[in-house]
Amino acid sequence: MPSVHRGNFPNRQTQCSARRQKIVQQRKSLPIASVEKRLVEEVRKNDVLIIVGETGSGKTTQIPQFLFDAGFCRDGRVIGVTQPRRVAAVTVAKRVAEECGVELGRKVGYSVRFDDTTSGSTRIKYMTDGLLLREALLDPYLSKYSVIIVDEAHERTVHTDVLMGLLKNVQLARSSSVSDGQCLRFGKKNVKKVMTLEKENEQSERFHKRPLYEKYTPLKIIIMSASLDARAFSEYFGGAKAVHIQGRQFPVDIFYTRIAETDYLDASLITIFQIHLEEGPGDILVFLTGQEEIESVERLIKEKLPQLPQENQKLLIVPIFAALPSEQQMRVFAPAPSGFRKVILATNIAETSVTIPGIKYVIDPGFVKARSYDPGKGMESLIIVPTSKSQALQRSGRAGREGPGKCFRLYPEKEFEKLEDSTMPEIKRCNLSNVILQLKALGVDDILGFDFIEKPSREAIIKSLEQLFLLGALTDECQLSDPVGHQMARLPLDPIYSKALILASQFNCLEEMLITVALLSVESIFYSPRDKLEEARTATKCFSSPEGDHITLINVYRASNDFLEKRSTEMSMAKTEKAYRKWCKENFINSRSLRHARDIHRQIKGHVEQMGLNLSSCGDDMLQFRRCLAASFFLNAAVKQPEGTYRALASGQVVQIHPSSVLFRQKPECVIFNELVQTNNKYVRNLTRVDYLWLTELAPQYYAMQN
Ligand code: ADP
Ligand code: MG
Repeated sequence: MPSVHRGNFPNRQTQCSARRQKIVQQRKSLPIASVEKRLVEEVRKNDVLIIVGETGSGKTTQIPQFLFDAGFCRDGRVIGVTQPRRVAAVTVAKRVAEECGVELGRKVGYSVRFDDTTSGSTRIKYMTDGLLLREALLDPYLSKYSVIIVDEAHERTVHTDVLMGLLKNVQLARSSSVSDGQCLRFGKKNVKKVMTLEKENEQSERFHKRPLYEKYTPLKIIIMSASLDARAFSEYFGGAKAVHIQGRQFPVDIFYTRIAETDYLDASLITIFQIHLEEGPGDILVFLTGQEEIESVERLIKEKLPQLPQENQKLLIVPIFAALPSEQQMRVFAPAPSGFRKVILATNIAETSVTIPGIKYVIDPGFVKARSYDPGKGMESLIIVPTSKSQALQRSGRAGREGPGKCFRLYPEKEFEKLEDSTMPEIKRCNLSNVILQLKALGVDDILGFDFIEKPSREAIIKSLEQLFLLGALTDECQLSDPVGHQMARLPLDPIYSKALILASQFNCLEEMLITVALLSVESIFYSPRDKLEEARTATKCFSSPEGDHITLINVYRASNDFLEKRSTEMSMAKTEKAYRKWCKENFINSRSLRHARDIHRQIKGHVEQMGLNLSSCGDDMLQFRRCLAASFFLNAAVKQPEGTYRALASGQVVQIHPSSVLFRQKPECVIFNELVQTNNKYVRNLTRVDYLWLTELAPQYYAMQN
């Protein structure tokens, strides 16, 4: 039996600080603590193990530590833990680093798109499932990992589903006694391709230096899920063993509204204050669908609070969503100051991914933002849809972790009965081009034959293949094209954005496109409160371009750069930061989103530089840039119809220009757009005016065919 490996593990018991004592206590009291030995034994005995346990029982934070202590990281091997959400990867890694008493990025680290804190000494690595898929491009055998834990598998994100299929292959390849493992499943040619790509990448040198035999040390796969039904996972992994961890759950009273609410944000606000004024102590967790809603409720609470009597004003509001800087994300875990009640405004991150202590009240408006894909029309959109029953149950469960709680569902009880039992796996409702591109880069040629846990529809696969072909990523034989397809697979972006960057280097406007792609990767950088729309419009007028939203976005980005550059030579960092926030506020710019975009910009720039793309700017020649937009986003073009609506050329759908667009009033003849938003109407967002003739000129592969 491997000896227990304590390495740089500090002796927890002798730590005397109160905080450490508390952490030790907390760890000991988790339901999972009593089954450590048994779990480790099961992992030793089974190559694939499914662990099911209620949210908050300690799966994510404890199991990797148990395995580390049991010696699964000997010889420098790593335990990888994947999460569907970056917030979970980041916050849990920070917590586990603290529990281990180590600095983040040493023994424990995280790596998510655009943010990597790991180092050569990292042994417990939290990451997004998408990131591990990308890692497989550079290291097809995932050779540094001894164990890979696929966490939150019940969420069934498209990346989780694909990852499970991939891990099955990797496990088979690594446990095989065949010496030329490269032949297994991955197809020899493509592995070579990946290895050539890899050579360019210094980081992955280790893979080359690693002796061949090491590739074949077996890989342990652990699938963790908060949903009690483990059958699908077990069957998929050939009858793999499932173990259940007993949770601890106190009763939660469920309340429904008498009638349906027309405005759930308003209803949430009223309920927050009702709880605050009428109920006993305990923190409140509110489930909203995204950053915009969270920020709007945050503002409304702050506006209302001063109207309450002084003694009732002790309410601490903490938002949590993906785009929040990670220091701020950690604020949700800090207890409120004495006498204060904490109100956490969260996306469904807080449903099962992260467990926040102290919650006694849950407010559940019953909605979630989800991807939706219409393969017939080839359009993906984000829509706000009702949760499933199992999501509603998970949400209410958050109120009963530390004692009896209450959950306020902001819809009538009869609506609950109408909800779907569980959420449809994402792979059945998303555009697959990204995943297909990655599978192709991994050497999986037969996408239709890939061993998915649940197969996407044939139609969706074919439509996505077609899209990749039109973008020039695939050859006529459905192979990754050289170099475009390979370059696209390397960029951690939607294929359509990757292609835009590659084209931009040819159109000499890569600088402009980098800014655009970064800004399109975050929620709107414009801050437009419903009650101040006109004021906001006036304030942002100075940035707006008659050519459309993309150039407008670039103008904002450049203005903010100028502002920062000027101030940072004159002022201290703290003062610059304050001035910057003031500047954003005055200009109705969302400083959080802009900062996030700046971060993304820096990262993508690093990628394109590494790829050797030509980093040039078109200066003031925006015609060149607009032509590049047309060449890149030709699949999202729309033309004006006589009655003033638009027809999307690829799908034939009738759409309207979103009121937030600078082209809303102008209504140009032909536009390209980046986003389709569905509410009562179908709106397109982020538009630029283009010339219809450019489409046939720049995308003949599509428009010549159409004509
Ligand atoms: P599971 O994965 O089973 O849902 P976790 O391992 O995420 O459970 O959580 C175990 C415990 O750790 C919970 O009580 C949770 O509140 C606590 N916890 C997790 N992250 C943090 C953090 N960043 N700060 C404080 N407590 C945390
Ligand atoms: Mg967890």
